[in-house]
Amino acid sequence: MVIDFHVHPPYWPEVTPNFVKFLEAAWDPDEFASLREECRTGAGLASYLRQRGVDYAVILAEVNALTGRMDNQTVLELCRGERMLIPFGTLDPRRETSLPGALTELVAQGIRGIKLYPTYEFFYPNDRMLYPFYAKAEELGVPVMLHTGSSVFPGAKIKYGDPLLLDDVAVDFPRLQIVLSHAGRPIWYDRAEYMARYHENVYIDVAGLPPQNLLKYLKNAHRLTSKLIFGSDWPGDRTIEKNIDVIRHLPLPPDAIGRILYGNAAKLLRLPPEAAPAGGSGA
Ligand SMILES: [Zn+2]
Repeated sequence: MVIDFHVHPPYWPEVTPNFVKFLEAAWDPDEFASLREECRTGAGLASYLRQRGVDYAVILAEVNALTGRMDNQTVLELCRGERMLIPFGTLDPRRETSLPGALTELVAQGIRGIKLYPTYEFFYPNDRMLYPFYAKAEELGVPVMLHTGSSVFPGAKIKYGDPLLLDDVAVDFPRLQIVLSHAGRPIWYDRAEYMARYHENVYIDVAGLPPQNLLKYLKNAHRLTSKLIFGSDWPGDRTIEKNIDVIRHLPLPPDAIGRILYGNAAKLLRLPPEAAPAGGSGA
């Protein structure tokens, strides 16, 4: 079984010209046109992902001036009625009057995790203004993922994406589940790995890293197989099925591959653990 922990369906009316340019460079025009058509609805998106070997997908909200606007309500609407689509919201710490209040409300509406974008919204993720939010997320058992490392979008400020900034948060909220998206690429792989090794509840999602280079970039991957989580970053990357296949053939034990593709994410999302990963399908 496969969980794709990092999917960014565009909300076409509100994506930025830079985002469209980025997608047009990644896709050929026909593919791009059919992608837009096919994935407009939740049912279409679910079927598209299923055909590429994905059993569950985390659908991410994103609201900023650099990439565009896919807000929490649009994500909830898209995921409604599709069990395989798991809605994650986003909160801009400077726009909310009460971060814990906003989080509680989103969770009541069905949001199952939060992604923060420090490099696009320009805040330090260890800023004390976020502490009430982290406390509430810890209390509610809501995983928090954060963009770390570089970005292809002009205007991003990389300094806010240093994985080590989460050291404060991991120490002060030891039960909070923290996911470092993109492993601090390409500057801070060592920091992201160290954070995941050192802190019990810090994970890494490998979205946006070419899976064939995973063991080269993450030199301690073999020791971190309980902490690494597969994500495609689709539609930024258009080859979900190939990426899954490359991960299945990495020189790691089958149970480790099962954890990267499914088990670790299942734990965070409270999905059933996969039965018998060692003898399971495809490993
Ligand atoms: Zn992302």
